[in-house]
Amino acid sequence: MADVESFTLDHTAVQAPYVRLIGVEHGPKGDAISNFDVRFVQPNEGEIPTAGLHTIEHLLASLLRDRIDGVIDISPFGCRTGFHLIMWGEPAVADVVPAVRDSLRAIAEDVEWEDVPGTDAFSCGNYRDHSLHSAREWARLIVDRGISLDAFERVGV
Ligand SMILES: [Zn+2]
Repeated sequence: MADVESFTLDHTAVQAPYVRLIGVEHGPKGDAISNFDVRFVQPNEGEIPTAGLHTIEHLLASLLRDRIDGVIDISPFGCRTGFHLIMWGEPAVADVVPAVRDSLRAIAEDVEWEDVPGTDAFSCGNYRDHSLHSAREWARLIVDRGISLDAFERVGV
């Protein structure tokens, strides 16, 4: 089986919340695509409940694109402790963190249920499984803890 960087990361050594560059890949035309580990919860110490994580996912899809250019995708980890963020080019972690932080702040403070995109059977694969209440609580917690620029030591929080 192919080696995957994520499985070589010592998950006991990181200090969440943080944003970490996993790697940069280059396509045949030379385009760069960056993959980030956007970790919200300390691994093996907790996880965001599915409904809240699902609502955060839908909201980040819009809020993050409003705050930083080049977002290809942001999708939750199966372990529910964070998200993969895929971006065009090679943006700095220091540019990603403020965009993620302000998106979470907006979830905690500004967003109403009517603002959540994709909450019906047409536009979501499991539209009953959403919780804006949970999304708000977790977003507040992550913003209050501070999102580090480094996975292994708390930088910039
Ligand atoms: Zn959905």
